[in-house]
Amino acid sequence: MASSGQTVVVNGEHGTIGVENPATGELISTVPVLDAADVAALAARARAAQPAWAARDIEARAAIFRRAQKWMFDNSERVLATVVSETGKTYEDANLTDLGYTAVALGFWAKRAGRYLRDERVPVRDNPLNLGKRAFIRHVPIGLVGVIGPWNYPLVNSFGDCIPAMMAGNSVILKPSEVTPLSSLLMVEMMEACGLPDGVFQVATGDGSTGAALIGEVDSIMFTGSTRTGRKVAVAAAERLIPCHLELGGKDPMIVLADADLDRAANAAAFYSMLNGGQICISIERAYVEAPVYDQFVGKVTDQIRKLRQGPPGGGVGTVDVGAVIFPPQAEIVDSHVRDAVAKGARVLTGGQRRPGAGRFYEPTVLVDVDHTMAAMTEETFGPTLPIMKVHSADEAVALANDSIYGLQASIWTKDLQRGEALARRLQSGVVTVNDALLNYTQLNLPMGGWKQSGLGTRHGADGIRKYTKTQSVMVTRFALKKELFMFPYKGWVSRSLLGFYRLLYGRGER
Ligand code: NDP
Repeated sequence: MASSGQTVVVNGEHGTIGVENPATGELISTVPVLDAADVAALAARARAAQPAWAARDIEARAAIFRRAQKWMFDNSERVLATVVSETGKTYEDANLTDLGYTAVALGFWAKRAGRYLRDERVPVRDNPLNLGKRAFIRHVPIGLVGVIGPWNYPLVNSFGDCIPAMMAGNSVILKPSEVTPLSSLLMVEMMEACGLPDGVFQVATGDGSTGAALIGEVDSIMFTGSTRTGRKVAVAAAERLIPCHLELGGKDPMIVLADADLDRAANAAAFYSMLNGGQICISIERAYVEAPVYDQFVGKVTDQIRKLRQGPPGGGVGTVDVGAVIFPPQAEIVDSHVRDAVAKGARVLTGGQRRPGAGRFYEPTVLVDVDHTMAAMTEETFGPTLPIMKVHSADEAVALANDSIYGLQASIWTKDLQRGEALARRLQSGVVTVNDALLNYTQLNLPMGGWKQSGLGTRHGADGIRKYTKTQSVMVTRFALKKELFMFPYKGWVSRSLLGFYRLLYGRGER
């Protein structure tokens, strides 16, 4: 456990968690498991700090995040070493996303928060009752925000959500995944070094019980993780009647039409399905390819994936392409999906097993002859696998892509951009990209969030920060008639006149 500034005493009765390097199996650190009393102590401290933080001018808040952005670059090697050591991902995966995204996000929210949160004027001229009044909306910090994050990107999906929450004037307690707490603890150190007041940002290390305790304390919960846990979080939040925002699992389809630029599509399929060892909620999890180009596409993708180098990233920059399986149970899920597919008739073109030797790795895997009876095509695999299915039309591809409990991210590949956009509108997915994948996440003014069982709400964009606020509508009467129309003697006259006015305006039906 850690918090910025003075240390909060942890009773430690729940013991500690060992943090392992998944690429080597080495134990690299231990952190305490915080219990409900510990979390309550953090919450008390956060609540004491929040009013003064919220009272600061937004530019004064932003200055701290700009300093943090510089700190990220000044300390980039340390940040990367921490992320790589607790995830076993490659140096490049950590560099591209964990460091790159977080540094950009610090600057983005510092710059945009003021615009997204300023008072919004609401016109009142469409109702004669309100003539002479002025109305506006305020975005008021919600108080104490809890953020619960997963292990795949310990900075992006955990600390990344804390940035707008704090910029909005809230205190935040982050509960990182039990397997990747060290990056979050480093962020505490960073924020403290950059001048964040004590108690505004704290990290509660621990397991699921710590996360559950956190929901019991906060005014709003932002959760990123599996759909299974997300459901529990939603129930716990409903019990307390607090807002809950969920970013959950995905089974992101890629649709390759016959007219696509095949080299580009194949490169993207290999890159995005294997990036971060395939442990990305918005990766390419399954591909549907039109029959005329299917064999060619499969050949190109398999050639690339077969050549990928895998192993511990210790050899330095550019020495391995695909890193470790971060979360211990994940290797079993990946393997069970591959075995289930093979048992039902799929063929493995490359990979298809755990990599022998030290560390926890699964070989980059391409599966063909797959269909929707197989878990590999319908359940989230979250590993270095790419099942590729042949389809006979774009309509069939869209139907199969939509045949899912998930709706997080999808991509369409075609040279006909109009057709690509038209198909995008038919996909049941929170995000659709045409001729690329995943890069939407780097566009921080573009909302990102899941449909169906992939989540509730969005991150990024205006809602990505307003969701950490309460809306207050203010209506000010600037001038009024000398005699109040709503005084009882005039009630009958006013109601008849008003109805007449409404009838005149709206009585002819739709216009
Ligand atoms: P989990 O749902 O297992 O865990 C997520 C977090 O919730 C962890 O910090 C976990 O703690 C905590 N937790 C567990 N039980 C509870 C509980 N009862 N109450 C509160 N918190 C609890 O997800 P994973 O960590 O395995 O992450 C992988 C999943 O995350 C995948 O499904 C992936 O798609 C999804 N994800 C979604 C993203 C999106 O933006 N939509 C982005 C990234 C990942 P602990 O780890 O200590 O058990």
